[in-house]
Amino acid sequence: DRTVRQIAAGEVVERPASVVKELVENSLDADANRISIAVDAGGTEGVRVRDDGVGMDRDDVKMAVEEHTTSKISDVSDLEAGVGTLGFRGEALHTIGAVSRLTLRSKPRGGDGAGTELRVEGGEVTDLRPAGCPAGTVVEVEDLFYNTPARRKFLKTTATEFDHVNTVATQYALANPDVALSLEHDDREVFATEGRGSLESTVLSVYGREVAESMVRVDAEPDAGPVESVTGLVSHPETTRSGRDYLSTFVNGRYVTDRLLREAVLDAYGGQLASDRYPFAVLFVDVPRETVDVNVHPRKMEVRWDHESGVKSAVESAVESALLAEGL
Ligand code: ADP
Ligand code: MG
Repeated sequence: DRTVRQIAAGEVVERPASVVKELVENSLDADANRISIAVDAGGTEGVRVRDDGVGMDRDDVKMAVEEHTTSKISDVSDLEAGVGTLGFRGEALHTIGAVSRLTLRSKPRGGDGAGTELRVEGGEVTDLRPAGCPAGTVVEVEDLFYNTPARRKFLKTTATEFDHVNTVATQYALANPDVALSLEHDDREVFATEGRGSLESTVLSVYGREVAESMVRVDAEPDAGPVESVTGLVSHPETTRSGRDYLSTFVNGRYVTDRLLREAVLDAYGGQLASDRYPFAVLFVDVPRETVDVNVHPRKMEVRWDHESGVKSAVESAVESALLAEGL
């Protein structure tokens, strides 16, 4: 039923940035070394994600856009064991295809001959044929929400939508320094990381030299308490921006937006930040997985901690000692 399908789609796909998120997660799950993201008009006109991952043959391509199909879980025990891949619900491509014009081209890694091209419009497969393409996968999503005008109306300005896309792309670049990840907006390069594995060089590519050179290493492994380690980079208290913050926090490798972690970082600077000035931070916090719930909501990326105050003080003191060690 059309209505049910479109409401379900809205749960995963809220805006262009959610399309970028789902496609990039698929590329990472496909073991890509290079991921190129290109968006037009903040993603409202088009989103394209290309990877050099394992790719798909014709049958895989057909299955990929079907409802609730995934290659990532074979039975319930996989779910209980905890799924290692990012996506596993098997609904992203299906739901994106239901509310856009989607073209997918793919060829298995190491495969010879042609690849496969598939087109979906508003949930209907309109074309499936052999096509010349490099190994890996490219997914193009055009005219997002063209058939759901109510949703289309909720899209913000191009600048705002692009901001969300940029945030998502930045998080995945920072969390995956060994993947060369690039972002283009209206045919202009926004950033491109090298994928050489260092967080420093990734920060340089994403935020530029001034920020990269002001970064201080955080590296703490508390002996006691709920946190196993806090690692990453934070900026000098004078290297700040106003308006919005540039705090990227990852819990057990997953990007999260969490009030507690944000406060911990800001508090670590004490009174050193000018008002409405925010530092840059890229922090990886690891805790025993049974003590945190990072799936409170699939879209919001919020966290529920078993030991809030212990986590906050561990992160705050890790950042504080990193700044102190530099005499800051
Ligand atoms: P999920 O990621 O939850 O499995 P998706 O709808 O995002 O569901 O993708 C469906 C399936 O399509 C995946 O399980 C995978 O087998 C295949 N797939 C999607 N994107 C890619 C890609 N970039 N490279 C290789 N396979 C892909
Ligand atoms: Mg997926």
